[in-house]
Amino acid sequence: MIKVEEALKTILEGIRPLGCENVPITSALGCVLGEDIVSGRTIPSLANSAMDGYAVIAADTASASRARPVVLDVLEDVPAGKVATQPVRKGQAIRIMTGAPLPGGADAVMRVEDTEAQGGRVKIFVAAEPGLDIREAGEDVKTGELVIPRGSVIRAAEVGMLAALGRSFVYVHQRPVVAIVSTGDELLEVDEAPGPGKIVNSNGYSLAALVLEAGGVPLQVGIARDNREDLLAKFKAAARADIVISSGGVSVGDYDLVKDIMAEIGSGIRFWRVAMRPGRPLAFGLLEGKPLYGLPGNPVSSMVSFEQFIRPAILKMRGYGNLFRRVVRAEMADGYEKNAGLKYFLRARIELREGRYVAALTGEQGSGILKSMVLANGLVVLPEDITAIRPGDEVTVQLLDGSLDLTAEPGALVNR
Ligand code: AMP
Ligand code: MG
Repeated sequence: MIKVEEALKTILEGIRPLGCENVPITSALGCVLGEDIVSGRTIPSLANSAMDGYAVIAADTASASRARPVVLDVLEDVPAGKVATQPVRKGQAIRIMTGAPLPGGADAVMRVEDTEAQGGRVKIFVAAEPGLDIREAGEDVKTGELVIPRGSVIRAAEVGMLAALGRSFVYVHQRPVVAIVSTGDELLEVDEAPGPGKIVNSNGYSLAALVLEAGGVPLQVGIARDNREDLLAKFKAAARADIVISSGGVSVGDYDLVKDIMAEIGSGIRFWRVAMRPGRPLAFGLLEGKPLYGLPGNPVSSMVSFEQFIRPAILKMRGYGNLFRRVVRAEMADGYEKNAGLKYFLRARIELREGRYVAALTGEQGSGILKSMVLANGLVVLPEDITAIRPGDEVTVQLLDGSLDLTAEPGALVNR
């Protein structure tokens, strides 16, 4: 039996980022850039107006006030997307909309609130400094500028910037294909009628969802029955994936054949059993250098093992630098007793109360109780050496998603 940290180190040291491919920017969200994005454009391409108003010569407005407005002749209207047909000269103005290019001769934009239209003329009530309400050419991006460096994770802002630069495709690290084999004679397909002693293959679905959430591509190989032939066939079908995971059949029962099959098709088991709960009977090996996981069958065990050992592997293949969930310190709302020697991952609901995180357990912590995962938004991590925690103790929590409960936070409802 090895420790969680050691298991993770063993797994990650063998993993390299996958190669890169060109994908549409609309599919690149969450991917890691495999190229430097250097701008071939200047944005904005021309100086333009930051306001709806009038393009003017600042010097013309120097004496303007509410009591003694300056009056200018209005030459034309320039909406966004159009260009003025003539320059602004002394005593003149051009009506201009936000984003429209600044006409020649003008060096300021007088916002419409500080003016009053009067036939073909406009009254200006305040004096403008040169440059007022003008966006300079290139104030966002300059030609030749490194805008997004290789290795960046593509978020909505990067997608928008790529579009602005005229890039409809972008070169990113590939998503690993993750094959999922569910083992067990008791397993039913999701739409089969329940029968005595039978259960639905829910792991196949929760694991596929976890793969998707980590940005991998799930490949459901299906249910393998607890016999050599079927297990071998399903594992072989899974072997072309970048990562192979199975659930069930890795304990010490008579029908727990997965370790033998893993050893047979791969290059040996690197470890079996990790000092953790849930998830102790995890087996890990290699298949043509690719990670091969035998996850425990209990629904919570397989999900928690995925969180600790597979999600980081997927992210590493995707080229991520940070492989882990956000971790915070929280105050326990409940007490809990545990065995020494095992690291525990307790399902909990994390709330923000008066600026502090509070973790409340989501009920029974048995590894078959999937509802405790449904209710949880975090995992409380209790180290190997301790045997109990009390209410009020500070603990480390892995946040499973962004759904922090803010309802107890004063002021959290103000903006709803
Ligand atoms: P095993 O390790 O194969 O003995 O499985 C441990 C427990 O997990 C048993 O109660 C199984 O019925 C359950 N289990 C195994 N595979 C799945 C699955 N794919 N979906 C839901 N539960 C499962
Ligand atoms: Mg089984």
